[in-house]
Amino acid sequence: MREIATVGVLGAGTMGAGIAQVAIEAGLDVVAHDPVEGAVERARGRIDGFLRRKVEKGQLTAGDADAALERIRAATGLEEVGGVDLVVEAAPEDLELKRDLFRRLDAVADADTILATNTSSLSVGRIAAATAHPGRVVGMHFFNPVPLMALVEVVAGPLTDAAVADSVALLARRLGKTPVVAADTPGFIVNRVQRAYYLEAYRIHEAGLAPIDAIDDAMRGIGFRMGPFELADVVGTDVNLAAGTAIFDGYYGDARYRPAQVQRRVVDAGRLGRKSGGGYYGYGADGTRGAPWPALGRAGLLPALDAPQIEARVLACIVNEAASAVADGVAAPDAIDTAMRLATNWPEGPLAWGERIGLPSIVHTLDALHAVVPDGRYRVEPLLRAVADRGGSFSESRA
Ligand code: NAD
Repeated sequence: MREIATVGVLGAGTMGAGIAQVAIEAGLDVVAHDPVEGAVERARGRIDGFLRRKVEKGQLTAGDADAALERIRAATGLEEVGGVDLVVEAAPEDLELKRDLFRRLDAVADADTILATNTSSLSVGRIAAATAHPGRVVGMHFFNPVPLMALVEVVAGPLTDAAVADSVALLARRLGKTPVVAADTPGFIVNRVQRAYYLEAYRIHEAGLAPIDAIDDAMRGIGFRMGPFELADVVGTDVNLAAGTAIFDGYYGDARYRPAQVQRRVVDAGRLGRKSGGGYYGYGADGTRGAPWPALGRAGLLPALDAPQIEARVLACIVNEAASAVADGVAAPDAIDTAMRLATNWPEGPLAWGERIGLPSIVHTLDALHAVVPDGRYRVEPLLRAVADRGGSFSESRA
């Protein structure tokens, strides 16, 4: 494969600016294009600010910061991006827009230029299929904020050449990131497995079994940096619902991914999270978290769950989801554990965690839930049951 020295970045928004920053810091030349006038200059200004702070902290010399900034150039049009070694597209999350961009890029790019998309939720295969050379199209899914987040999901679509995925993984390492290879499936690894963390919390709340702050407290109590509700408020309740709906649709309405009514209630009420001043919680003018939104209070007709019961249910669901991702061939067990630790700061990978708790106990929790709510959301992944029944572990399949 062609050695990667120049990177084209399409779309100079939040992600494009971050990707450009890590590329120039790694010594690569960047050509950035954004159709909005001044967008690349504004991105350069933001990058400048980040690099200056690094200089103040003694993490970078002023000379290196200047040299890095000189490595970004604004392209006048898409055609100029075509001559680079690799393009990373970070334009808005719109399938038709991305298909159109890739069709045009494919027409202007050198034959051996790699075309990568930073899509979070769209099918890499569908984007690749818009081009005449789908083998060179690959997913390169960075996380926000790019300079701080260590993970890159390398999404190998059904048409992606293996050498292209390898090249992108190697580049991710040069950018100081840890790549994990994921199959082109809804939510890839991280967004899929993380669904279970949110959804089981929403279900516990909706069933009137615990208030949202008790659920958040419980999950923080076992090492999660943020509870599911406070995390959704950071991400944006609208963004979270859209991501969940895309995965639900991607799996043809599988009950395991069905969004919860509580998600719609907050979004419909315009409570989009911290960015709108309130979501599941209210927030003070200085950003301090206040009380849960009063409309979320529910009279508990059933006995409330205590913290260990909440934790057991949420953990069982995330272990089941991780096992199901293994069974579906999304990624290897190790890759899934690594991805979840790095992208979400979970204290442990879900499969290793499940093994430590004991897989039979995870299966038992899920079976008990399935007996009460038999709509499929708690069905035990057959691979998980098989590994638990034989007293084995996912780590055996890792070896
Ligand atoms: P953003 O809105 O901050 O930036 C998008 C940029 O693309 C804007 O500057 C816009 O002017 C530009 N743009 C619009 N039309 C374009 C076109 N035709 N060609 C090139 N550029 C165009 O969005 P973002 O948050 O940076 O997201 C970009 C992509 O990265 C999306 O696919 C998103 O799903 C994905 N992503 C976002 C995050 C996140 O947390 N923000 C994380 C991972 C992946």
